[in-house]
Amino acid sequence: MATEKEDVWYQCQRCTNCCKWEGDVVLADGEVEKIAEFLEIPLYEFVRNYTRLRDNRQGLSLIDKEGTTECIMLDGIDCRLQDVKPYQCTGFPNRWNFENWREACEAIPGPRPEGA
Ligand code: SF4
Ligand code: SF4
Repeated sequence: MATEKEDVWYQCQRCTNCCKWEGDVVLADGEVEKIAEFLEIPLYEFVRNYTRLRDNRQGLSLIDKEGTTECIMLDGIDCRLQDVKPYQCTGFPNRWNFENWREACEAIPGPRPEGA
């Protein structure tokens, strides 16, 4: 039987805080290719212009806008990668989060949508 906790789903309020935090926007296996294709640019061009080595040197991250900690793909309150967002973005805060995450995220709890 599902617990009450498992039935809660945090609904994003598009505050964009998670697009402005310092740190990596991790690109997992296969996401680099998918995003380059979505942007209709060659893979090497996407890697050269939009990515950097992650802090732990274990793979790629999206870069920030120059002089800020804001993700290069944030456009106002919209993500330019809406249909192909990295898992790090789509998974937060319901599939992964961190201690005290609610202090930095405005998502509100509600019923878990079907299939989520
Ligand atoms: S910090 Fe939370 S509410 Fe704000 S955009 Fe990210 S997931 Fe949505
Ligand atoms: S890829 Fe999109 S959702 Fe993810 S941090 Fe960048 S702007 Fe935000």
